[in-house]
Amino acid sequence: MTAGQTVRVGISTPEALLLLPLPEDLSGIQLEGRVCVFCGNGVTARTSIDLGSRILGARRIFPRACPGCISKEAITQLSLHCLGVNACQDCKEEPICDLGSALNRLIRMGAR
Ligand SMILES: [Zn+2]
Ligand SMILES: [Zn+2]
Repeated sequence: MTAGQTVRVGISTPEALLLLPLPEDLSGIQLEGRVCVFCGNGVTARTSIDLGSRILGARRIFPRACPGCISKEAITQLSLHCLGVNACQDCKEEPICDLGSALNRLIRMGAR
């Protein structure tokens, strides 16, 4: 590493949230972030986590989800990452790579 280079902290939590795939066929209120994109329960800015604005087709959407759903989705993504056919070699024992540790952080968000 050369002097003056900032240390990369891996994938930030907002970046990791953007990596969570959204379900298909979302309703208008889901796209507006008024209900959880995953379970459809009503959410507010206080009770939910912002998944980051995304582009869907021609529109910009502002999906939100409850922490429990984010945790569940992150567990799914992490198991694909660690156990799938193209499993990450670094994360066989525990999630240690940038993506693995970011997903692990999302899982813990919902465990509060
Ligand atoms: Zn939910
Ligand atoms: Zn990994």
